[in-house]
Amino acid sequence: MIPEHDPIRHDLLGDIQILLPGVPCKTSRGWLGYCSIVLLRVNGSLTLFDTGHFSDRALLLDMLAHIGLTPLDIKQIIVSHLHFDHILNVPLFRHATLIVSKDEVDYAASVVAGKAEDPSVPENWRALLNGHGIELISEPVELDSRTEIVSFPGHTPGGLVLFRKEADTVAICGDVIKNAWDAVNGKPGAAGVDDKAAARSIRHVLERARIIVPGHDRPFCLEGESLAFLSPFSWEVRGSILPGPQDEVLLDIGLAAQTVKTGLRH
Ligand SMILES: [Zn+2]
Repeated sequence: MIPEHDPIRHDLLGDIQILLPGVPCKTSRGWLGYCSIVLLRVNGSLTLFDTGHFSDRALLLDMLAHIGLTPLDIKQIIVSHLHFDHILNVPLFRHATLIVSKDEVDYAASVVAGKAEDPSVPENWRALLNGHGIELISEPVELDSRTEIVSFPGHTPGGLVLFRKEADTVAICGDVIKNAWDAVNGKPGAAGVDDKAAARSIRHVLERARIIVPGHDRPFCLEGESLAFLSPFSWEVRGSILPGPQDEVLLDIGLAAQTVKTGLRH
C-alpha cells in the first residue's frame, strides 16, 4: 500500500519528477531491472533521464498522460547507458534527440562484436536508437546554467550522471549509483566492468551532490551518519498460483520516507 500523506520532497528535488521510481530488488529468476525514469526541463525542453524496459511501458505512458503529456512531447532523452532496462522504451519518444556517452556506444558495439561480454546490452541496441538525433558525449557537458552531464566508468565504461543545481546539488545517477546500499558502502553491490573504478565514481558523485536519485532505488540524501529517503516506497507482487486465488497479493512493501542510521560518516 502507498503510505498516505507522505509526499515526495520537492523542496529538495525542485522540478525533477520521478515518473517511475527504481526498485532495488531481484528475484530467484534474475534482476527485475525496474530503473528510475525521471522527467525534468533542461533549457526549456522536456527531458527524460532513461526510459525503462518493456514491462514499464504501460505505467510510463499512464504517468505521462496523468500529467497531460504524450511521448511526442519529450524533446530530449539522456540515456544513462545502453543496458536493456534503461533503453527499451526509447523508440516511443519519436521527437526526442538522445544524449549518449561515446564510451557507451563503443562498449555496446564491442559487446555485439563479441569482444566483450555483457548480457544486459541488447543485440538490437543500435536499432533502438535509430531515427533519433544523437549527441555523443565524451567530455562533461553543461546543458544549461544549472544542469551538467558527466560520464563515470565502473558499472559500464561511461555511465552518464546528470548534476542539477536545485536548493542543493542533485545527481541523477543511472547505475553509477544503483541504490542506497551502494552509496552507504561506497562500492557497487553487483559486479560491473571495473569495480574499483565504480567505487571511485560513487565517491566522486557523493562528493559533489547531496541529493541522490539512484538508478534502481528511490531518491535519498546522505548526511552525517544517516540516510534520509525523500519519497515513500511502494511495491506489490501479485500472482495467480493455484491453489491460491487469482491475482493474489504475494508481497506488499509499503515504506514511508524514513531516515535510516547507517553507522558510517558521510
Ligand atoms: Zn540498470
